[in-house]
Amino acid sequence: MSKYVERVLKETAARNGNEPEFLQAVDEVLTTLDPVLKKNPQYEANAILERMVEPERVIMFRVPWVDDKGIVRVNRGYRIQMNSAIGPYKGGLRFDPTVNLGVLKFLAFEQVFKNSLTTLPMGGGKGGSDFNPKQSPHTPGKRCSDAEVMRFCQSFMTELFRHIGPDTDVPAGDMNVGGREIGYLFGQYKRLANEWTGVLTGKGLSFGGSLIRPEATGYGDIYFAENMLAMRGETFEGKKCVISGSGNVASFAAQKLMQLGAKVMTLSDRSGAIFCEDGITEKMLKDIMVLKTVKRGELADFAKKTKAVKFFAGKNSWQIADKIDAAFPCARQNELNGKDAEYLLKHGCKLVGEGANMPSTPDAIAAFLKARIMYSPGKASNAGGVATSGLEMSQNSERLSWTAEEVDSKLKGIMKSIHDNAWEAAAKYGDKGNYVMGANIAGFVKVADAMVAQGVC
Ligand code: NAP
Repeated sequence: MSKYVERVLKETAARNGNEPEFLQAVDEVLTTLDPVLKKNPQYEANAILERMVEPERVIMFRVPWVDDKGIVRVNRGYRIQMNSAIGPYKGGLRFDPTVNLGVLKFLAFEQVFKNSLTTLPMGGGKGGSDFNPKQSPHTPGKRCSDAEVMRFCQSFMTELFRHIGPDTDVPAGDMNVGGREIGYLFGQYKRLANEWTGVLTGKGLSFGGSLIRPEATGYGDIYFAENMLAMRGETFEGKKCVISGSGNVASFAAQKLMQLGAKVMTLSDRSGAIFCEDGITEKMLKDIMVLKTVKRGELADFAKKTKAVKFFAGKNSWQIADKIDAAFPCARQNELNGKDAEYLLKHGCKLVGEGANMPSTPDAIAAFLKARIMYSPGKASNAGGVATSGLEMSQNSERLSWTAEEVDSKLKGIMKSIHDNAWEAAAKYGDKGNYVMGANIAGFVKVADAMVAQGVC
């Protein structure tokens, strides 16, 4: 590791000691940049790394709201505006009790490189709240009602609206922020700003949303993996796959894999994992999507009613199947550890395509790289979601709606470019096939060059 990287990592750790996820994300990127830093001394001379690890702006605010019992509740809201060198801040909002400043800084940092990789002009940001829509504050075991979620979203946007705008910062969804929440947030923005603009992406189709945006992250993850397979002359036909999660990213990744002839054996959620050796059917997946997005239930309930699946309470998807060709972590950060990686490799896994952000722990990543399997980091393979958000912004600006086929074909093209750019950067800097290094370098160079050109700001 170069002295420059070593020094910046040390300073970042000293300054952000209580933000382990942020430090993990910074470490993962900076430790792969030495070859490009050596060839380009202007980056060190312009303190590019020091500036990249410091958000341009952090907004933290109180979110008071009234629950269905008339009790006043208070949550904490955030928006991290990380880097606007190549475009307006762009990145999702996450509502989850695990949300804190460090988690959002890690996500915002990742987003900068991811957005750069999409080839679209988007800077990086991320936001959210520790609000938990999955737990009512007054009735244990029940979820928040739609009315409670709406009141929370309206209060959250009442502060956020002054910091965002179609040319400033364009949030989208993330964990627990789907179509329902984006609708409430957009409604409140429109009311406060007195203007109708594409200030949020992931909107409903009747008010400026893009076809294929809901599918885009999951589909994009699988398109990226198809490109990795194509380098080895292979396809998904007949491949045995395991997926974690059963939310937006996981369910559409599963759908695309099924369309391509693969067998999807597992899905998971907070209650545990379901396993179906012969492959989850399209009908089962449809029922799970309804369960998750309409009924807002758990896989444990689904397993009780579906004889063809086995249920593993409290388990993730990794250590269940005997023969595995490919794994897709699509739930959350640090959900696949060294032991899981060992199991996957021992049971035949040759491809890991991250749909979630930073789902593999550092020791799991090291194991995949050592085994030289096809491993794509989330910032490259889950970039399809934000890329399609970029396409939604374009459609909103042009006052046009493209067909599903048009958007899907653009998404495929973008995922191929991301794959090829990461592949070529890794090859150019001496580690062919290392998509971690390739994605980090390809994402970094564009942002770093823009920062150098824009002077010290
Ligand atoms: P989502 O719809 O809320 O789904 C998240 C899934 O992860 C759910 O199945 C959830 O289970 C599961 N999960 C969350 N925390 C868990 C825990 N502690 N233990 C076990 N399971 C847990 O979210 P999403 O939009 O699919 O996002 C998933 C990942 O992809 C996140 O890392 C996100 O940052 C990343 N991502 C999303 C997008 C996008 O466009 N949505 C784009 C890029 C990256 P429950 O249903 O039980 O809560």
